[in-house]
Amino acid sequence: MISAIGIDIGGTNTVVGLVAGSVVLERRVMRTKGATDLDRYVKDIAHIIEAIALDYPHCNIVGIGIGAPNADAVSGHIYHPVNLPWKGEVPLTQLLTARTGLRSYLINDATAAVIGEMRFGNSSNLTDFMVITLGTGIGSGIVANGQLVSGIGGLAGELGHVIAVPGGRSCSCGRSGCLETYASATGLVNTAIERVRSGADTVLNSKPVMDITAEYVYNAALAGDAVAIGVFEHTGFILGTTLADVIALLAPQALVFMGGLAHAGDMLLVPVAQAADAGMLKALKGRVAFTRSVLPDSDAAILGAAQLVFDNR
Ligand SMILES: [Zn+2]
Repeated sequence: MISAIGIDIGGTNTVVGLVAGSVVLERRVMRTKGATDLDRYVKDIAHIIEAIALDYPHCNIVGIGIGAPNADAVSGHIYHPVNLPWKGEVPLTQLLTARTGLRSYLINDATAAVIGEMRFGNSSNLTDFMVITLGTGIGSGIVANGQLVSGIGGLAGELGHVIAVPGGRSCSCGRSGCLETYASATGLVNTAIERVRSGADTVLNSKPVMDITAEYVYNAALAGDAVAIGVFEHTGFILGTTLADVIALLAPQALVFMGGLAHAGDMLLVPVAQAADAGMLKALKGRVAFTRSVLPDSDAAILGAAQLVFDNR
């Protein structure tokens, strides 16, 4: 069976998947965070691919597709990836091909997720939508008139670096107040830490601030902690207000959320939809769907990245 490896490189984890057609047969997770030794990291990916090949002898793996932040599809290099542990220019496809002997292709991670969602997700019948991945950072991609909007060097659709709070938190991109610094999992945690440090009466105080995670804030909110609920409301307000502008610009049929923070579901998406609705152009009210991708985490990016291999055969 003709198969491909699809890799989703996120700021926290890297997921290596085995794809045949539209099916992800296998997913193996390794850490990205802290993997400062690039050679070691590439070697670890190659070992996972070897192990997958041994476990699936009926699969003929014909190449590797990689979705990563700041990726240049033409050179196969990652440039100055702010959420990844390597600096400068990383010739990832060349390194992986040298290590595995397999042809490798690189694409922006958000673009990979959009392609996966377009072809295999619940948006395959839509012509105008935006995919928003809420993870360590924020990834996003735009589909307009049934086409992926790529812009110069595939850099279009960087919603995470739209300024949501003028003069706000400093962002790793060098600007201040970017949406990513508030509405990613990292941003949500920082809001929670701010509230703890301001002396709020909350169960979040029961952990050292360094150990607070988005999941921990979510569980506290689920248990009824008013401060934790407020953190989600604040995050949702900032995201929803920014999305009202996006909606004015694109008039999309849907906004499709994925990524770890999207698992918070209504806790986040209800305040997002409320804020977006409050700021939305009247002509568009009630006409834009706020949905979560039906694809399991990472699968959209894995499927989209693997398509590069199949498309280039
Ligand atoms: Zn930024």
